[in-house]
Amino acid sequence: SDTDAGPTVEPDALRTPIVAVLGHVDHGKTTLLDTVRGSAVSEGEAGAITQHIGATAVPLGTVSDMAGDLVDPTDFDLPGLLFIDTPGHHSFTTLRSRGGALADIAVVVVDVNDGFQPQTIEALEILERTGTPFVVAANKADTTPGWNPRDGSPIQASYESQSEAARSRLDENLYEIIGDLSDEGFSADLYWRVQNFAKNVGVVPMSAITSEGVPDLLAVLMGLSQRYMKEQMAVDTTGPGAGTVLEVKDERGFGATVDTVLYDGSVRAGDEIVVGGTDGPIVTEVRALLQPRPNAEIRVEKRFDKVEEVRAAAGIKVAAPDLDDAMAGAPIRVVRDRDCESVIEEVESELAEIQVSTEEEGVVVKADTLGSLEAMANALREAEVPILRAEVGDIAPRDIAVASTANKEKHRVVLGFNVDVLSNAEPELDESEVRLFDDDVIYQLVDEYEAYVDELERAQQETVLDKIVRPCRFRVLEDHVFRQSDPAVVGVEVMSGTLKNNQRVVKWEGSAPTRIGQLSGIQEQGEDVSEARSGTRVSVAIDGPTVGRQIDEGDELWIELPEKHAKILEQELSDDIPADELEALTGYLDKHRSRDPFWGK
Ligand code: GDP
Repeated sequence: SDTDAGPTVEPDALRTPIVAVLGHVDHGKTTLLDTVRGSAVSEGEAGAITQHIGATAVPLGTVSDMAGDLVDPTDFDLPGLLFIDTPGHHSFTTLRSRGGALADIAVVVVDVNDGFQPQTIEALEILERTGTPFVVAANKADTTPGWNPRDGSPIQASYESQSEAARSRLDENLYEIIGDLSDEGFSADLYWRVQNFAKNVGVVPMSAITSEGVPDLLAVLMGLSQRYMKEQMAVDTTGPGAGTVLEVKDERGFGATVDTVLYDGSVRAGDEIVVGGTDGPIVTEVRALLQPRPNAEIRVEKRFDKVEEVRAAAGIKVAAPDLDDAMAGAPIRVVRDRDCESVIEEVESELAEIQVSTEEEGVVVKADTLGSLEAMANALREAEVPILRAEVGDIAPRDIAVASTANKEKHRVVLGFNVDVLSNAEPELDESEVRLFDDDVIYQLVDEYEAYVDELERAQQETVLDKIVRPCRFRVLEDHVFRQSDPAVVGVEVMSGTLKNNQRVVKWEGSAPTRIGQLSGIQEQGEDVSEARSGTRVSVAIDGPTVGRQIDEGDELWIELPEKHAKILEQELSDDIPADELEALTGYLDKHRSRDPFWGK
């Protein structure tokens, strides 16, 4: 290209905006993508849409055919829209490109009847964090009771033709969605009422089944891209390519390949490339660029067509040697006329940006992509959960082994986000003490883990409390001496704490405690009991003392607390013991500390 031409952009140098479709499971993402593909095939010229690896390219002409009157192609100079269609919403919500989100624009699909659900909220949080513009597709409008479908119609015409009752039912659901968006901090309205899409989120009522509102959705996506993203789309689509790895896959005949979304420049067969891997950047050379072969049959040997070059934006499978350790979510760069070292540095610095800080002790985290790993790490940092190891990939035996070495039980866990347990790791997982947590919603995963830690800590405190001697103050009653000695049997009143059998008994004489014996029985109204609560009167047998010598009627007695136990009770468990027991503890500590201020500290 002519460098003297200055910054003016040739229309054909604008790249296709990348569109991601997100939302809660079952709200209709797959159906919407199928509908877009299907109507693009029937509306457009043969071959007008192209099936890419992990994406579908819909050219402007086809968008405008599908959108009818809503899109005038002469208003646009962007080439169309590239829909990422990898199943599973996370693969791209959390995927990044250089300095931002991989998707230029997003559609958040919400079932009008089901409303906001956890993955809806999570998608919005990620879009907000990455500053990605989006529209909300209020899907399944056709399920409104009494709905009279008008296949493929723009939504307003369809809406007008509905009964009053159907319209108000739909309105109610739409306002609920608008309200939920507002609760999440987005000012939103039905898309035709939105004046400024930079400030307000447009809601498009639609149905992926009847295609009602699909023209509107395409028109809004095209309009938004043209209006707000044109600058960003002005890239040199013939320069050295930059992309993000969607997935690493073994393909028969090619070995490990990387499914890639190319968002800048071009990639050609034979190009030298740098790809982010688990052990740092991989430098290799493109053997083949592969696109799915239309209508390829599984049994047909060749499932892919080889292409010589692709230009952004595109989805492409890159076959090259040494890609086994490539990471989903990692950057991929074409070197071409540049210095390879500087490209390696570029990839390294991008990887470093996403590096998760780890500690000596903590949990093991596995996630499907670098971006989701980063999101997990953020969520765990907020929850103050330390991380020992964080990696992209399925759960392997090594992960279980590492998790099992944690000192604290609460850290002997693997948190897996959108990953599988490799079959050779299953026996190890069954045999070890390691607990697995997996969920495909990040904050639910963190919540589940936190609930587990709470439960664990409660159980641990209970066992500690079981093993520990508990404080108790009690008093020998007047006229209740039943036996002088061997053992002494006297009536007592429990003043504070709980009296338990088999404990040692002390009495304070002056400032020093004297051990006077050991409880060997408690009876309440003639029945043997193992303990007596504060406020009750019981008779006790004490091995050791003789009434009239070591103890007397009216004496104040205490259960003897070992110093270590007193310390644990005061420092760790004071919130977990009843108030009267705490009072007994404080009294006991005060007595000791009047002699030795550091007792039990
Ligand atoms: P995903 O999990 O978000 O990809 O959801 P799917 O696209 O798999 O849709 C889940 C279910 O909802 C399927 O049974 C679809 O046929 C149905 N569905 C999706 N969109 C619509 C719609 O607009 N109207 C109706 N009636 N059903 C829909």
